[in-house]
Amino acid sequence: MPASRKKPDPKKSLRTADRLARLGLSTDVALALHLPMRYEDETRLLPIAQAALRHGLPVQVEGVVTDCDVQYRPRRQLVVTLADDSGRLTLRFLNFYGSQATQMAVGRRLRVRGEMRHGFFGDEMVHPGVRPVDEDTPLPDALTPVYPAGEGLSQTVLRKAIANAMTRIDWSDTLPPELRARLKLMPFEPAVRLLHQPPPDIDENALAERSHPAWIRMKFDELLAQQLSMKRAQLARRQQGAPVLDQEGALTGALLVALPFALTGAQQRVLEEIRADLTAPYPMQRLLQGDVGSGKTVVAALAAAQAIDSGYQAALMAPTEILAEQHFRKIASWMEPLGVNVAWLTGSLKKKDKDEARSRIESGVARLVVGTHALIQQDVDFARLGLVIVDEQHRFGVAQRLTLRNKGVGSVPHQLMMSATPIPRTLAMTYYADLEVSVIDELPPGRTPIVTRLIAQERRDEVIARVHAAALEGRQVYWVCPLIEESEALQLQTATETHALLSAALPDLKIGLVHGRMKPTDKQAVMEGFARGELHVLVATTVIEVGVDVPNASLMVIEHAERFGLSQLHQLRGRVGRGAAASACLLMYQGPLGPVARQRLAIMRETADGFEIARRDLEIRGPGEFLGARQSGQAMLRFADLETDQWLVERARDVAQQLLASQPAIADAHLARWLGAKEDYLRV
Ligand code: ADP
Ligand code: MG
Repeated sequence: MPASRKKPDPKKSLRTADRLARLGLSTDVALALHLPMRYEDETRLLPIAQAALRHGLPVQVEGVVTDCDVQYRPRRQLVVTLADDSGRLTLRFLNFYGSQATQMAVGRRLRVRGEMRHGFFGDEMVHPGVRPVDEDTPLPDALTPVYPAGEGLSQTVLRKAIANAMTRIDWSDTLPPELRARLKLMPFEPAVRLLHQPPPDIDENALAERSHPAWIRMKFDELLAQQLSMKRAQLARRQQGAPVLDQEGALTGALLVALPFALTGAQQRVLEEIRADLTAPYPMQRLLQGDVGSGKTVVAALAAAQAIDSGYQAALMAPTEILAEQHFRKIASWMEPLGVNVAWLTGSLKKKDKDEARSRIESGVARLVVGTHALIQQDVDFARLGLVIVDEQHRFGVAQRLTLRNKGVGSVPHQLMMSATPIPRTLAMTYYADLEVSVIDELPPGRTPIVTRLIAQERRDEVIARVHAAALEGRQVYWVCPLIEESEALQLQTATETHALLSAALPDLKIGLVHGRMKPTDKQAVMEGFARGELHVLVATTVIEVGVDVPNASLMVIEHAERFGLSQLHQLRGRVGRGAAASACLLMYQGPLGPVARQRLAIMRETADGFEIARRDLEIRGPGEFLGARQSGQAMLRFADLETDQWLVERARDVAQQLLASQPAIADAHLARWLGAKEDYLRV
């Protein structure tokens, strides 16, 4: 085909620089710090006969091609015979270019690297790495690095780019010698050079496990940069002005009196922590953690009351309409009788109602605003926003939380984030170093523990009988339908089918259905019916996952529990056990279960403590996945591992504090090297 008629492949036409940039490698420093993920040992040659004894292991041999053929059976492949003084070996290539056949013509000398295996016709390698050589081509004197590569980037190109960059960068050590000596850290330059070009006699395990001193130095540097950046962000925040919300007046007092219960000790303690923050002239940034059902909402309401007492507005944003609505109802029922104007704002409101809510928010008539993402729309202006509360904060992206915070006028509002997904300590220290954390570690009194049982799908009839019995006792039941990740439509279909099935099996019960595709008003009608006790059973998709609060519901059935994440199961289970009646959660599963699924369901059965569940979840999944790409900030930590390197995290945190206090120039240099353009990301 003539070249002119060939359509240019847009990916292929990308220049190497662009491809490198996609990996974040647009500077020399970034390239030099792009460290290998593993190595190949090409420093040694084995005679073919000896290599043949090392089955399943990577080996390197050198020999002359004695045969090179294209075979067609059992499928098209290039078959090459390579011989040295000790023996011969077959090389097979199932996908190959014509040029490869030429490169491996009879008489050529090749150095090949791959795994030996016993083929039908003797020893062979499938798709080995091949390099044409001369008799006197020297062997490399260092291990060959294999780098994380992106699409269209070969190791050869990367190696060359990195080697070039290493001739140009500034190698000076950002850590002064006395600090290195105190922390027993290897100097920067030898550490980086060693990792790119390890000598053949290096402890390969230490390299692979990243416990070698050179790796420790890299991890420390990376963690230090992260801690420095976060501390800087924290200091910067203290420079911003925030409204001083120090009036604990009529509303706060009246609300405390009006509540139908007394606060738990834990609620009182976190409330004190929040109140102290609100009186500071710089914005609070506090994460309120408390297990499902621990009573975060009332704490949020009391914080809002303090803002209102001080003459400001408060906004509460929740991730779903169901949850936002529930907050609105509950908080309005507490606050409106005390004379507080509470506005409700969500995307599904009619235009007229939306306009009306917006104008109350803008004029300052509405003192408390509850809603969904609608709160962060451009056309919503607050008169005097003093406090922003974000429920289930992990459901929002960083940008969304920032947008709400930016709705302050002339000052930055205080921010309270709430989450039932507890963040283990190491994660909190690294990813949330800029947050203060309050923890509600006590449930309100009078709760009975939830009994959790695992039941195979085949025993569905028993489960249905149990649902019937619970309903006859005057209890209510949630029946959660399987999560079908591939298709929301399919998930919907299953929910509808389950609803029909249960209605047929239990004709004497009232059974409702709620799912994400319903019109908000319909959804609301069903939820209200369930909350009022008019429905015995609520068949639902995961829309009920967060926050829904119906104390009379005491049985939770979750189908295909093996498809849910642990924190999701915990959230769902938290919908029951809210009243005084003994509650149960039945996790139905489809066998056979894989080892991980089995482990996870066992965790659910063994513990109801959200913190413990999160800890074990982290053990199984690792921190990256635990946080999800959105929160982990992707490449924020490339080298350090929060599980194994906790000691380094703590050291880095201490050093960051010292440097910022006494040697800010060192902090600057270190940040410049390690974060460069990325620092902005960490600022949020
Ligand atoms: P979560 O922390 O999961 O958001 P909620 O704020 O929804 O929990 O509270 C769960 C339930 O406990 C609600 O019905 C709430 O009214 C009730 N509750 C909260 N605090 C107390 C308390 N101190 N004593 C009794 N009940 C409480
Ligand atoms: Mg809640």
